[in-house]
Amino acid sequence: MAQKKFKTEVAELLQLIIHSLYSHKEIFLRELISNASDALDKLKYRTLTDEQLKGLAFDPRIDISFTEEGERRTLTISDNGLGMNEEDLGENLGTIASSGTKKFLASLTDEQKKDSNLIGQFGVGFYSAFMVADRVDVVSRKAGEEEAWLWSSTGKGSYSLEKGERDSFGTTITLTLNDEGNEFANRWQIEQLVKKYSDHIAYPIFLSYDQVSYDDKKKDDEGNPKKKTEHKVEQINSSSALWRRPKGELTDEQYNEFYKQSSYDSEDPLFYVHTRAEGATEYITLFYVPSKAPFDMYYADYRPGVKLYVKRVYITDDDKELLPSYLRFVRGVIDSEDLPLNVSREILQQNRVMSAIRTASVKKILGEFAKISEQNPQLYTTFIEQYNRPLKEGLYSDWANRDALLELVRFKSSTEEGWTSLASYKERMSADQKAIYYITGGKEETLKASPLLAAYKKRGFEVLIMSDDIDDLVVGSIGKYQEIDLKAINKSGAVDDLKAEGEKEEKASKEEKALIKKIKKALGDRVKDVVASSRLADAPAVVVVDENDPTVQMQQLLKSMGQGDFDEAKPILEVNVDDPMVKKIGESEDKEYVADLSAVLLDQALLAEGVMPKDPVAFTKKLHSLLSR
Ligand code: ADP
Repeated sequence: MAQKKFKTEVAELLQLIIHSLYSHKEIFLRELISNASDALDKLKYRTLTDEQLKGLAFDPRIDISFTEEGERRTLTISDNGLGMNEEDLGENLGTIASSGTKKFLASLTDEQKKDSNLIGQFGVGFYSAFMVADRVDVVSRKAGEEEAWLWSSTGKGSYSLEKGERDSFGTTITLTLNDEGNEFANRWQIEQLVKKYSDHIAYPIFLSYDQVSYDDKKKDDEGNPKKKTEHKVEQINSSSALWRRPKGELTDEQYNEFYKQSSYDSEDPLFYVHTRAEGATEYITLFYVPSKAPFDMYYADYRPGVKLYVKRVYITDDDKELLPSYLRFVRGVIDSEDLPLNVSREILQQNRVMSAIRTASVKKILGEFAKISEQNPQLYTTFIEQYNRPLKEGLYSDWANRDALLELVRFKSSTEEGWTSLASYKERMSADQKAIYYITGGKEETLKASPLLAAYKKRGFEVLIMSDDIDDLVVGSIGKYQEIDLKAINKSGAVDDLKAEGEKEEKASKEEKALIKKIKKALGDRVKDVVASSRLADAPAVVVVDENDPTVQMQQLLKSMGQGDFDEAKPILEVNVDDPMVKKIGESEDKEYVADLSAVLLDQALLAEGVMPKDPVAFTKKLHSLLSR
C-alpha cells in the first residue's frame, strides 16, 4: 500500500504532542468530538445553501463506541457530518490545516517546546489522537459523493490512503489504543470526559456499550447465575448550551436551574445577565451573581467562577484573567465564536478578542448592578451586604471603571439608616458644606460614638461611617467625588471646616496657649502635636492623625498583618479648652498631677477610638491616683 509522507510540520507537531502533552492526554476526545461537531455544522449549512445537498435528510449525531476484548482495545468516534473525500483527507490530515496551530508552532522556542504546561493548554486537533493510540484509521465519505476513503497512520512520519467502505456520508475514526490509552475504552471514563468537555456540544453524543447482568433464576453449565449481555445506546451529553438560546425562550426557572447545576450552589442566584454580542466580535455571556459571597472570595487561591467556551466547547474554568479579580464572585459562561479552540492561557491573556470580551463584560456587569440599584433597591441592598467590599477593591484596581464603581459602592452614614451612596449624600449636602466628610478606622459602633461626630452633627453635616477594613485604603484613592473633596474628620485636614461662613477666627488667649504648651510638654514624644479645638462639645479631647498619616487603627491593622515595620505615626491630640478636666491642667502647678492628667487625657481619647492604652497597668494606676485625690 502506498505510504505518503506527512508534511514536516505535521511530523514536528506529532513529536511535540506525544512528548509534551503526556499529562493532558485526555483532551484528545474533546478534540475529536469538536471536529465531528464542526463537520455536522458544515453539513447542516450545506443542506441549506448547496443546491446539490438541499433536502438531504439527516439526523445529526455523534456516536462513540469501544471494544475491550481482542488483542487491542479500540475507541471509535463517528459522525454523520460533511465527511471528507480523498483530496480532503490528504489536505486535512496530511498537513496542518489550522493556521492558528501553525503560527503557534512557529512561535515556540525550543525551550517552550519542552514545557508541557504551555502546550498542555493547547488544543492540538486531530493529531492528539496519537497520544493514546498507536494506530488511527479514518473512514470517511463526503456528502453527495459515492466513494468512501480510508486514511490510516501509526503517527510515525507517514500515512496511507486507499478506498474504503462506508454506508453513508460522514466520518468514523477508530483509535487502536496504546498502553497510555487503554483506560479510555471504558464507559465511565468516556461519560466523565464528555460531561467535562463536551456537554454543551449542540448535537447528541451517543455511547454504545454492553451491559452485563447476571440472572439468578437461570444457571449456566457450572451452576453460576447466567450472564446476560445487553447492548445499550445512551445519550451522554445534555447538548443544551442554555446560554445559546434566545432570552425570550428562557424562564427564570431555567436560568436558575442551569446556574445551580453548573456552579454547585444549592441556592438561586441573586440575578443574572445574559448577553449576545454580534458584530466585530461574536460572543455570548451569561453571568450570575450568587446569593451568598463564595466562601473562598478572600483567599489568594480562590477559584474563578467563569467558564470559557469556544463554540460550545469547554476550554477552561480556571482562568483568573477572564474577569478582573474584584469581580471574582461572578459565575457563568463566556462563549466565543472568534477564539481558536486551541487557545492557550498565555495567548488568552494577550488575545485581542479576549480582551475585548473582557472589557465589554465588565461594562455589562457593572451596568446591570447600576440598573438594579435604581430599579430594585431591596435587591441591591442584599447585593451590597455581600459584595460591597469587592466593589471597593475595584475602586483602586480598575481605573477605567472608577466612575461607575463610585456610583455602586455604599457606606453607612451618621444621619441615614442603612446604606447610602455618594450621590444621595451629595443631594443632602447643605449649601455651605464644602466637602464630603467621613470617619475611618474602627468599628461602626466606635466610629458612630466618636466625639468628633457630635460636632459635625451639631453643625448639620452628614458624616460617612467608613468602618470596613478596606475603607482606609480605598477612600484615599477616591480623593474627589464629582469635584467635591472627601475629607476625613479624624485627620488634621478637616479641623477648620466646621466654622460657619463669616465666623471670625477666634484668637487663642494667652492662657490657652500656655495650657496647650503644658500638655504638650507633659506628653512629650507620645504625640505629634497638641492643638486647641473649638469643635468638641462634650468630650475633653480626641485624637486625630496628620493628613498624610494612616489612622491609628490602620496602623494597628498593618501591625497585626505583620507589616508594622514603619515609624509609628503619632497622633495629634485635639483638646477642648473649655472642658473642666482640661481646665484643671491649666490651673495646677503640681507637675506629677499635670503629667497624670495629660496622660489620661490622651489615653481616654485613644480608648474612645477603640485603641487600647499601650501600658494598661500604668493607665489604671494613674486613673486610680487621680480619682483618689
Ligand atoms: P482543526 O480542527 O483545528 O482545523 P484538526 O487537525 O483537528 O484541525 O483537523 C483538521 C481538519 O480535518 C479539520 O479542519 C477538518 O477539515 C478535517 N476534519 C477533522 N475531523 C473531521 C471530521 N470528523 N469530519 C470532517 N472533517 C474533519
